[in-house]
Amino acid sequence: MTNKQSKKLYERALNFIPGGVNSPVRAFKSVGGTPVFIKKAKGAILTDEDDNEYIDYIASWGPMIMGHAFKPVVKAIKDKVEDSTSFGAPTELEIEIAELIISMVPGLDKLRMVNSGTEACMSAIRLARGYTGRDKVLKFRGNYHGHGDSFLIQAGSGAVTMGSPNSPGVTQGVARDTLLADYNNLEQVKRVLSAYRGDVAAIIVEPVAGNMGCVPPAEGFLEGLREICDEEEVVLIFDEVMTGFRLAPGGAQERLGVQADLVCMGKVIGAGMPVGAYGGKQEIMDYVSPVGPVYQAGTLSGNPIAMVSGYTLLKYLDEHREVYDRLDKKGEKLAKGFDSILAKTDLPYQINQVGSMISIHFTDEPVVDFAGAATGDNEHFKKFFHGMLKGGVYLPPSAYESYFLSDAITYKMVDQTLEIAEKVIKSLGK
Ligand code: PLP
Repeated sequence: MTNKQSKKLYERALNFIPGGVNSPVRAFKSVGGTPVFIKKAKGAILTDEDDNEYIDYIASWGPMIMGHAFKPVVKAIKDKVEDSTSFGAPTELEIEIAELIISMVPGLDKLRMVNSGTEACMSAIRLARGYTGRDKVLKFRGNYHGHGDSFLIQAGSGAVTMGSPNSPGVTQGVARDTLLADYNNLEQVKRVLSAYRGDVAAIIVEPVAGNMGCVPPAEGFLEGLREICDEEEVVLIFDEVMTGFRLAPGGAQERLGVQADLVCMGKVIGAGMPVGAYGGKQEIMDYVSPVGPVYQAGTLSGNPIAMVSGYTLLKYLDEHREVYDRLDKKGEKLAKGFDSILAKTDLPYQINQVGSMISIHFTDEPVVDFAGAATGDNEHFKKFFHGMLKGGVYLPPSAYESYFLSDAITYKMVDQTLEIAEKVIKSLGK
């Protein structure tokens, strides 16, 4: 396997783009080596610029839940693009996608389309502040809600591995308004809220965390947050950018049976186009401009190509709910397979899996929060990552990310992945 072309492109990119990439985690900084430059993809197979092929467990960090170049989506985009790529005026398609999402996701009366998960989370926080008249928000260590200022305080995902969980450029004032607690720790949440009683606008949480690797909520954690928010009149925001339309047609809310006041969406919602959305109860959403006083806007929001892309995928998922059973089964098969391979070694490990989200943490400690995830052995992770890459399996290049399975990954591909993993894992202890 050669990576001559990727190397050449990376060196060229470094001259013109910070770190050679347009989003930090792509730079392979936490695993070392040269990022793979992708030429094209079909189904679950990525082809790089050196014509190497990989089974893709990133799925563009989540969106490509049916695999790449999914035929219905490609056709819908091709058909639509002739009618112009943007109008900056309302279209019927925006109503159709809103109706569809509201029918799929529990607890939504209204929603607003934006252009990324970051925008969705930033807007939801502003709205919660405007609605409650309070300034502070509580987030969890190791959760990532995009790169909005309020969220870059002990953030997960690339922020951890780039060594900037608290980013320079975020003002002291913003940092003071962001309160922190450990994931899965309701006692801490209660303590923080009682110390700041009457000042907290919102609690924002990844209902299944994916940005410190996959970390499921402990039993009762989300229910506890719901109760606390009701008692303290705090807006509960589920950041379902990763979990939305992935863990169930209605996301983690449907799968886990807990309802938020506001929900942030992204990734699958655009089928690979830059789309996000936030929505919730009418009473709160009516604070959004132009009905209410909380300003939020976007020149390209509701873009027709992005909308037709997202609509086509969501409609397909809504009409083919058996996809989720298959994703769960493939996720389980992969997790069980990893477990039986790792159990035969002396390596420390934990496998966290919820449906099609999976992570291997190379540690003996159960990983229920960021502190647990941080005990993972990054040297094992790096070797595992590069071994798998060489074997033709494309995993997230950071221990603080979850794998995302797509329905295009076949059971046979899972078997192939496990065969490669067995060889790589055998060499890890050496
Ligand atoms: N929220 C979560 C849970 C995410 O995982 C991400 C991105 O990975 C975001 C928000 C930000 O989304 P985007 O990268 O589309 O801005």
